[in-house]
Amino acid sequence: MPRDLPTPASALAIAAHPDDVEFGCGATLAKWAAAGSTVHHLVCTDGSKGTWDPGQELLALVAQRQDEQRAAARALGATGEVVFLGWPDGELESGVRQRWQVAYWIRRLTPEVVLGHDPWKRYRLHPDHRHAGFLTVDGVVAARDPHFFPEQSLPHHRPSALLLFEADEPDHVEAVGEAEVERKLAALESHRSQLVSTMHIDASSPEHDAQRDAFRARVRDRLAEHGARAGIPLGEAFKAITDL
Ligand SMILES: [Zn+2]
Repeated sequence: MPRDLPTPASALAIAAHPDDVEFGCGATLAKWAAAGSTVHHLVCTDGSKGTWDPGQELLALVAQRQDEQRAAARALGATGEVVFLGWPDGELESGVRQRWQVAYWIRRLTPEVVLGHDPWKRYRLHPDHRHAGFLTVDGVVAARDPHFFPEQSLPHHRPSALLLFEADEPDHVEAVGEAEVERKLAALESHRSQLVSTMHIDASSPEHDAQRDAFRARVRDRLAEHGARAGIPLGEAFKAITDL
């Protein structure tokens, strides 16, 4: 299986929710950031459904999740923008208005590589992940052509590669090492509001250390699984589209 794009000058990772980028491609972004890439995040929703606490004050949760996303970007070593489109969590759509926004940020940030959810992953339940995937693909198409959204008054921009994470048919692996694994884990654990619901780590539990070790082992196992596709110890697998 082919692996390792040349290190891009810049990369834009597009996600439905705060934390999706770190799960999907955090180690790859950490590798590129360490090699000098400017790494940007674009998060489509406000993350306001991301709690199991029915009494949670949702505006406070949104603000917290934005802070956590910025901390996660720093933990990856990313120095680019962290942009929030702010659509209500669970209600993201992939219509023209949203596509306009994604194309705008691709044109404004001019990433060499764009990364996002694979919208064609079969049996994916969460609608936001499907829609964010379609917005990534459709946003790239709109951004690259000067006749789409000319009122944006920005030069059109054609990235050189699109990497889809959580891929239905992965055909590309980015090799990562121990340093990138550590950065990915630190970035994931920066999403503190998600520790219980997503990572199954409860700070108030006597099992906390074991829970954290189990989470770290799951992340590492996944990286080993992905790396094995290319015959290497650790990696992140993608569907790569380089004919843009
Ligand atoms: Zn998500």
